[in-house]
Amino acid sequence: MVIYMKRDPNAFLREEYEALKANKLNWELHILEGPSGPRVLVDGKQSIMLCSNNYLNLSNHPKIIEAAINATRELGAGSGSVRPIAGNMKIHMEVEEQLAKFKGSEAALVYQTGFATNAGIIPQLADKGDVIISDSLNHGSIIDGVRLSRSDKAIYEHQDMGQLEDQLTEADKKNYKKILVITDGVFSMDGDVAKADEIVKLCQEYGAMSYFDDAHGEGVLGPHGEGISAHFGLEGKIDVEVGTFSKAYGVVGGLIAGSRDLVNYAYNKSRTWLLSGSAPPGVAAAQLAAIKVLESEPEHHRRLWDNTNYFKNELQSLGFNTGDSVTPITPVMCGDSKTAKELSEELFKNGVFALPIVFPMVAQGKARIRTIMNAGLTKEDLDDALNAFEKAGKAVNLI
Ligand SMILES: *Cc1c(COP(=O)(O)O)cnc(C)c1O
Repeated sequence: MVIYMKRDPNAFLREEYEALKANKLNWELHILEGPSGPRVLVDGKQSIMLCSNNYLNLSNHPKIIEAAINATRELGAGSGSVRPIAGNMKIHMEVEEQLAKFKGSEAALVYQTGFATNAGIIPQLADKGDVIISDSLNHGSIIDGVRLSRSDKAIYEHQDMGQLEDQLTEADKKNYKKILVITDGVFSMDGDVAKADEIVKLCQEYGAMSYFDDAHGEGVLGPHGEGISAHFGLEGKIDVEVGTFSKAYGVVGGLIAGSRDLVNYAYNKSRTWLLSGSAPPGVAAAQLAAIKVLESEPEHHRRLWDNTNYFKNELQSLGFNTGDSVTPITPVMCGDSKTAKELSEELFKNGVFALPIVFPMVAQGKARIRTIMNAGLTKEDLDDALNAFEKAGKAVNLI
């Protein structure tokens, strides 16, 4: 027997990792000890948390925790199957009914995660002979969903409505069967909001389907956190609204809201929904409880926005550039990656946990610290955080 040694099938693993490490592009995991809240113990240090997606601090809400515990006791740790076979429990249906009511849509459908939602529905909405038109800064899970589709693809520059219209005109000329326009609702790196009114109008003019991934807008935009359609008064006018329970809702899970036709179609076509196990009852109960908390306790939403406005204004007064943000995602622009990383380290020394976002996650020269507000932070916490920003900003010559 000849043994060939010309190829080591595992060599690339270490090589790629070492290359990332050499360029300081590898992730080093931070460890939370205790719950994810407004103040956390991270890597052994008490810190103010400014980079979690737990906007409303609902992951620590007693009613939501209680609902998860009770449902787990009564219904078990797992659902036993996928939804279309044997894993569809009454509690899953209740979440969807309540969610549709809350968002003012005809129907809703819950997925395992937001990522699974984009990967599981985008390829089913556009196929060969169709085209998908995307904003250039769309989330990675949208990009992967688009990659799974056999349709043609086009991109418009971030928020450039002129270019979107050009792409629609082009698509119209080429006689595609279907046109799907996809955008983030709130953009996760900059905290700006898609021009939903203009996009929906353009989609209507050109007979295109509108698709908004509102993962960072759910629980944040709208009078009670209903999301981007309520923010613009476009309830029932966005064809597909995607969201997540993993951010402001404080739990986990993805969702779509739209017409009954959309949900019936997804029931039968959407592969991640059909072929992957449904949420454990404890998760579904926590989702349901979180929706009810949003409806009945507006104070969390109000505090989130009060905190956001105070923090953003004070950062600007200190001389920081907060980019185009109009939401609780407030980037602190640093320019080069090195400054962003140093600022993050200085912040951590001063009791603030906020991570740098650098190339390739954002363009070269646009490195930043991305802060995300939490409704559970008190005025004193915010002042402590602002003091830390002032000290750290001066230490790295940013202000
Ligand atoms: C976070 C995020 C997702 C992923 O949601 P998960 O439920 O955590 O998988 C999808 N889309 C956008 C725009 C996001 O920001």
